[in-house]
Amino acid sequence: MNIHEYQAKELLKSYGVPVPAGKVAFSEPEAGAAAQEIGGSRWVVKAQIHAGGRGKAGGVKVVDAIADVKKTADAMLGTHLVTHQTGLEGQAVQRVWVEQASRIVKEYYLGFVIDRTSQRVTLLASSEGGVDIEDVAKTHPEKIIKVIIDSAIGLMPYQCRNIAVAIGLKGRLVNQSVKLMQGVYQCMVERDALQAEINPMAVVDCDGDEKLIALDAKLNFDDNAIYRQKAIMDLRDLAEEDPKEVEATSHGLSYIALTGNIGCIVNGAGLAMASMDAITLHGGEPANFLDVGGGASPTKVTNACRIVLEDPNVRCILVNIFAGINRCDWIAQGLIQACNSLHIKVPLIVRLAGTNVEEGRKILEESGLQFITAENLDDAAAKAVATARG
Ligand code: GDP
Ligand code: MN
Repeated sequence: MNIHEYQAKELLKSYGVPVPAGKVAFSEPEAGAAAQEIGGSRWVVKAQIHAGGRGKAGGVKVVDAIADVKKTADAMLGTHLVTHQTGLEGQAVQRVWVEQASRIVKEYYLGFVIDRTSQRVTLLASSEGGVDIEDVAKTHPEKIIKVIIDSAIGLMPYQCRNIAVAIGLKGRLVNQSVKLMQGVYQCMVERDALQAEINPMAVVDCDGDEKLIALDAKLNFDDNAIYRQKAIMDLRDLAEEDPKEVEATSHGLSYIALTGNIGCIVNGAGLAMASMDAITLHGGEPANFLDVGGGASPTKVTNACRIVLEDPNVRCILVNIFAGINRCDWIAQGLIQACNSLHIKVPLIVRLAGTNVEEGRKILEESGLQFITAENLDDAAAKAVATARG
């Protein structure tokens, strides 16, 4: 689960991470009042969407009059911001963050990710901040410092100091970086975050005094741990999420929208991945990942069909069930129920195996509805790709 930059900054602030003073605004007058309250003479108006790359896309604007704060907020609110991280249709801007402008001396990169190889939180830092870290990784991989953190002892001050020196920080900024890095790390561990990115972490000039601050903040949380993070759950902005994914979650289904045209309804995440691979192997493209889970009742299957069909790109649906805990007769009943209640117009390619498979096949045959049946995963994928093509 993602949260907005301003929420991440407010959270990180509570962990001692220095961030600029700011206020969120949902309207033009609120933005003006926010700037007034923050004070000073220069502000940054930042579109709040769950995607990066806003700077280049016009979603970050520095202004030096309250009238311009209002004008900029008004121009951003209600529009769709298209960045290289959003889809082509962009993401609706419903809130802006008004922040005291900083005088940037230099921008650095700081990121914390889970490294699956070492199974540890890994800190990434670079002197090349503010730009896409992916580009730095490609062109100057030596400029990214990587430190694996031992979860038993946590992030040690000496590690932070080594990193700070390696990216070129000097003097008092080194000690400031220890506080900043440890704050982000502590927040990440305590709040079950999977990813924390401060890009840029910036050295700013405060009346001749140099300070290290988090100028941007992105936090991503582990959905599997969110049940024990109520305060984080409260930060959820459903408007930022795919409505199909939100609906799927409410029905106990794991659904992830993709860009292809073959809808997938599968039981088990592993089989769902294998089904997507098989489709790709046969030259097709899956429209989604969907795991109906074990014990998929007819109602659950109907819900799955409805959600998959909400994607207008779907040209056929591949149903792949290997029933262990599930029952093929339930799945078959669910498919018939879905066909009848949803008036499904696209072909369904069905592969059933496992518990009550004979009953399941019989139910499908006797329904009088047109299902394309398949013997195994490979056969099902080939038929789905052929169906989607023509
Ligand atoms: P992103 O493009 O979505 O990652 O948004 P950021 O919050 O990282 O902002 C993009 C860029 O805007 C930063 O890299 C800075 O160069 C610039 N920027 C952000 N805040 C300020 C500020 O307070 N003052 C100045 N001068 N530039 C800023
Ligand atoms: Mn950024």
